Amino acid sequence: MNHPTTLNNAPTSTPRKLSLTWLAMGFVVFVCISLIFIDGWRSWTARHNQLHETEVSTTNMARAIAQHADDTIKAADTALLGIDEQIQADGTEPAALERLHNLLVRKTAELPQLKGLFVYDENGNWLVNSLPSTPANINNADRDYFIYHRTHQDKNAYIGSPIRSRSSGIWIMTLSRRLNHADGSFAGVALATIDIDYFNRFYDSFNIGQAGAIVLVSNNGTMLTRRPLLPDSIGKNMQSTTVFKESASHASGTFTVKSAQDGVKRLNGFRRLDKYPLFVSAAVSEDEVLADWLTDTYLHSAGVGLLVIALGAIGFYLIGQMKLRLNAEAEVIRARDAMIVLNKTLERLSLQDALTELANRRNFDITLEEEFSRAIRNASSLALIMIDVDHFKQYNDLYGHAAGDECLRKISQAVKSCQNRAGDLTARYGGEELAVILPTTDVEGALLIAERIRTAIHSLGISHAGNEAGIVTVSAGVEAIIPVRDLNKPVELIEAADNALYAAKKSGRDRVCSNFNMVDV
Ligand code: GH3
Ligand code: MG
Ligand code: MG
Repeated sequence: MNHPTTLNNAPTSTPRKLSLTWLAMGFVVFVCISLIFIDGWRSWTARHNQLHETEVSTTNMARAIAQHADDTIKAADTALLGIDEQIQADGTEPAALERLHNLLVRKTAELPQLKGLFVYDENGNWLVNSLPSTPANINNADRDYFIYHRTHQDKNAYIGSPIRSRSSGIWIMTLSRRLNHADGSFAGVALATIDIDYFNRFYDSFNIGQAGAIVLVSNNGTMLTRRPLLPDSIGKNMQSTTVFKESASHASGTFTVKSAQDGVKRLNGFRRLDKYPLFVSAAVSEDEVLADWLTDTYLHSAGVGLLVIALGAIGFYLIGQMKLRLNAEAEVIRARDAMIVLNKTLERLSLQDALTELANRRNFDITLEEEFSRAIRNASSLALIMIDVDHFKQYNDLYGHAAGDECLRKISQAVKSCQNRAGDLTARYGGEELAVILPTTDVEGALLIAERIRTAIHSLGISHAGNEAGIVTVSAGVEAIIPVRDLNKPVELIEAADNALYAAKKSGRDRVCSNFNMVDV
């Protein structure tokens, strides 16, 4: 049986609050780290791509420069071969030399890279040249190209170390071929001088930045020219440099190296010439190549940094707000729980008699109403025992009101202890009158319980000089009914039980009566 109902309780949500907060914090941190990671990865990829592009462009530059050097030298070399052929055919008689002179002048005018074309005899004396007039008594037997050809049988083109021209004072590169007599003995040297500035003008057309460099180097390690041209560039020995070592072992390639001279890290593309013993290298400064990338990276990093700070700040602010809300929610739940407990207490108190701790009259009325309805629905018997303490007024008079209260408490507990089933209800009906509601019980069953109660009070043995038995006794009236809807009312049951109680009183007290039979002690 359900006595007046209570509200349902709900569990509090601290673990949910904790996990939600951690989840939100984890998410914010994850997003921030992801942003940083993605930007870092993007930046690294952009750097890699930039360096790769530069590698390709230095390779292309080296190819173009090598091709240019090859073509430039080849044109001069062709002129030398022409000279050799003409001398073979015409000899070196003054008339032949005059014709040769005209050819040399024409050739020099045709080829912008050519400073001059010269022919020396086996002793190094000037035979013929492309100059307007031949300087007197000049001998070139001491020049390294002359010595080389005099001492080497081969008829290949020879590129000498760069020298300052004796005639013009500018830096020139020498390309020479050996001339032979008909018997194969040394007949002299044909020489073409190439203006080193010709190369430099071409190299100026490339964008290699402030710290970039282009070099043209002989396979023996002698630098022929460099852009930008430093005072000691021409003729410098390059054998100890990385570019020399790389080009000695590979026809072309790229590498990155930090310069021992100026500490600049450069990306180099190099290539050996196809036809002549030279190689070229084009280098750009890594810092310059990456300057735009670096600016871009700084900007991105600043942007991402600000974004991460804003995201973190907003994220953690929102998490804080969420925490506050969850705390408030938990507080509400705690307050609700406390309210439920308080309600239960109030409800219990509102349904309980303060003195006897039995159900009070209100509880009795509600329960009787409910059990009456249930009995109607189930067509079951509902019994009621009304109990009244005998001569209780006198008890108070004899022993005092406080003793009367104490006596009433003991009687109440004794009555309650006779209650068999959870559905039974023992209540203080009023004053020293108690009532027991017994659902699903007929009058015989109720009489048995009433008798058990009466005996239990006897067993308490509370002295009562004003009562016939000398101890406190009770009288009880019992009634049971199988109520019918719209026909019977709870009050009928009370009145009937009350009548039976009256009968018990009237017939001598300390007994149990029903409206049909009376049980004597
Ligand atoms: P009987 O029922 O046997 O006819 O006699 P009685 O003396 O018990 O009858 P009555 O109903 O006239 O008196 C009831 C007395 O119960 C009156 C009152 O002093 C006493 N009483 C009622 N409620 C309390 C209570 O809470 N405490 C105390 N100490 N006495 C109470
Ligand atoms: Mg009374
Ligand atoms: Mg009484």
